[in-house]
This record gives sequence, structure tokens and C-alpha cells, in this order.
Amino acid sequence: MDADRDNARLSDERIAVAHRVTFIPGDGTGPEIAEATQRVLEATGVEFEWDFQDAGADVYEAEGTPLPDRVLDSIKERGLAIKGPITTPVGSGFRSINVALRKELDLYACIRPCKAYEGVRTRFPETDVVVVRENHEDLYAGVEYEEGKPETLKLREFIKETEGTELREDIGVTIKAISVFGTQRIVREAFEYAKAYGRSKVTAVHKANIMKHSDGLFLRVAQQVAEEEYGDSGIEFEDRIVDNLCNQLVSRPAEYDVLVLPNLYGDIVSDLCAGQIGGLGLAPGANIGDDYAVFEATHGSAPKYKGKNKINPTALMLSGVMLLRHIEETEAADRLEGSIAAVIKEGENVTYDLKEDRDDPSAVGTKEYAGAIIDKIEEGVSV
Ligand code: NAD
Repeated sequence: MDADRDNARLSDERIAVAHRVTFIPGDGTGPEIAEATQRVLEATGVEFEWDFQDAGADVYEAEGTPLPDRVLDSIKERGLAIKGPITTPVGSGFRSINVALRKELDLYACIRPCKAYEGVRTRFPETDVVVVRENHEDLYAGVEYEEGKPETLKLREFIKETEGTELREDIGVTIKAISVFGTQRIVREAFEYAKAYGRSKVTAVHKANIMKHSDGLFLRVAQQVAEEEYGDSGIEFEDRIVDNLCNQLVSRPAEYDVLVLPNLYGDIVSDLCAGQIGGLGLAPGANIGDDYAVFEATHGSAPKYKGKNKINPTALMLSGVMLLRHIEETEAADRLEGSIAAVIKEGENVTYDLKEDRDDPSAVGTKEYAGAIIDKIEEGVSV
């Protein structure tokens, strides 16, 4: 009887320390990389209480919405989620649920660390940058005027009257709006990230020489935040014009550390950096707000590989490493990251995309790759 009570108490304690996290496996190849990621996260010994929630195209058919309230409620209750990619079907009638999640939960910062691990195929082995991308504003705010519509012509008239420019009649327009509020909080996020993870420099990226009232505002506010709020932080601040930055990232990547960018440049530069570190299969990410955080790979659902046990789960696993660091399970994060790095460095039990030749028959599947990482975790490998 006493033993039963002790067991019950022990299991209560275990549940008490378990991290409650919403797990959205996603669709396409999402469930395969989600399963592999769940396995390696659990192999670290950290206790999780997962709440699995489906979302996406299949859910749309069954429940009439790709993002049911139950998914949002689960994240709102737990504050944390890890998510596989979700397909945005072309012409399906629903907008990207990834964008909807970011809006609903006010996940204004997208953080994408891009670090080249030894053993990956890259011409840029010294790359180790963190892209901090603003998620809500810029050309992605969704304010658009369709060609030929009366409101587009009205906007054209308004521009002519107020600004003097005569635009052609056959224009379509997307508005680029960047606010002081949005810029302040993304720049603070970049500095806070740099402080928390021992980074030494933040670079604000813009095209302020051309777009004075959007990118110009971004640069001015970034300079103000850097000087007034982080002047004594020991973290260096600089800025770069986005085209120059791209040139320098592929010639002198080691000079860059944390990059903070408006939405569109952030999108493009993070794919560039993913390419520099060996491909999309290796690029993790997190969407962060003041109240919630959702961890997900940069890549999409790669539907052509669905069900083939082929795709590389590293990007979602490294998003899991970011989750572990976020919940201050630092030692487990080090062990998982070190184990992933060790398997990549050995180059044997890796997926097709990490082989010198993509048709190399010795490439292993998603599950076997996860198994090799779990072996390393059990051996006690760490960073
Ligand atoms: P994608 O990233 O899914 O795939 C493009 C190609 O990159 C793949 O065909 C594959 O060759 C390679 N690739 C991607 N991930 C890989 C991995 N883990 N391992 C090995 N190779 C990998 O891009 P896409 O085809 O443009 O998008 C497919 C769908 O995903 C679209 O519906 C898109 O809207 C959606 N998407 C979702 C997210 C998200 O959920 N956050 C992000 C981007 C795209």
C-alpha cells in the first residue's frame, strides 16, 4: 500500500515537472518529421506532456476550417507549441494557416538561427547567423489593391493629388507599411536574443536609401532603440543595405551575427542563409510573441516526399533544440544539438540531402536518422 502511495506521489511529481506543449504534426511530410522530433526530444529525458492537435487541409474538409479554435485554445492554454509544416493549397479558399497562427497569437518575431554544422555540404562553413524577422508588417500586411478595381483607381487618384506621382492606370498595388511600434519591438527582440544567447552584434537590414518613409523609419527607430535602450549592453549595433548584405553574406559570412529585418527581406535572407548552411532540411525557426511561442522548421511540407521516410527532420529537431533552450532545459538542448551535430559530422547515418551525392544508396531514412541521434544522446554526446 505504501509502495502504491509512493508510486502515485512519484508519478504526480513527474507530471508536475512535465512541460505542457501543443504538438501540431502538420501535413505532407510533417507527421514524419514530427514523429522523429518527438522521439529525440523525449530521448533527452526531459518530461513533456504533449497535446497533439491536427490542423491543415484534411482538417478543413472534416471541420470546415483548417485552423479550428481547439488548436488556438490549446496553444493559448500552454503558451508553447511545436509544429510540423502545413500545406497552403493553391486556390483552396483558405489563406496560409501559418500566417493565421502568427496573427492570432501575435507572434511578431520569427527567429531563424542558421549555423553550418561540420560535415554539411556548403561553401560557407563559417556561417553562424541568426535572422530575426518581423512577422506582421511590411508588404506582408495583406493590404492589396487589385488591378482594374474602382478602389485601385481611387487610390491612384489620391496618390496623384497628395503626392504628385502619376501612376499607370493598369497597376496592382501592395502597401508596404512599417510602424514605429512594430520596429521597436522587433529590434528589442533581436537585442534580447543577442543578450540571452551571448551574441555580440546586431545588424539592422533595410533599403532606407530608396524607401525613406518605410525602411527609413525602420532604420531610424532601430538606431534609437540600439542607442537608448542597449547602448550599455556591450552588444555592437550596425546597419546594412539589404543588397549589400546579401553580397557580404556570401563573401564574408563570419562578419555577421544577429540580423534584424522587416518581413520581406527577412523571408528572402533567411532562405539565403538556409542555403549557406546546407539546405532547407537544416534550418530551424521559432515564431515568438510576448505570450506565446511556436517552434517550426523554415521549410514547407515537401509533399512529393510524403510517406516515403526520406526527408531530413533536422530542421524541426533543431527547432526542438530552440524550444528546449526557451524553457531553460539548457543541458538537454546541448545534448540534443551535440548529438545531431555528431551524426551529421560522421556523415554515415544521414538522409539523402546530407550525402555528397543525393542518389547515394547508403543514405538512411527519417526514422533511422532519428535512431542514430538517439544512440548519440544515450552515449552522452553534447556540444
Ligand atoms: P518545401 O520547403 O516544402 O520544399 C521544397 C523542396 O525543398 C522540397 O521538394 C525538397 O526538395 C526540399 N526540402 C524541403 N524540406 C526538406 C527536408 N526537410 N529535407 C530534405 N529536403 C527538403 O517548399 P514548397 O514546395 O514551396 O512548399 C510546399 C508547401 O508547404 C506549400 O503548400 C507551402 O505553402 C507550404 N509551406 C509551409 C510552411 C510552414 O508550414 N511553415 C513553410 C513554407 C511552405
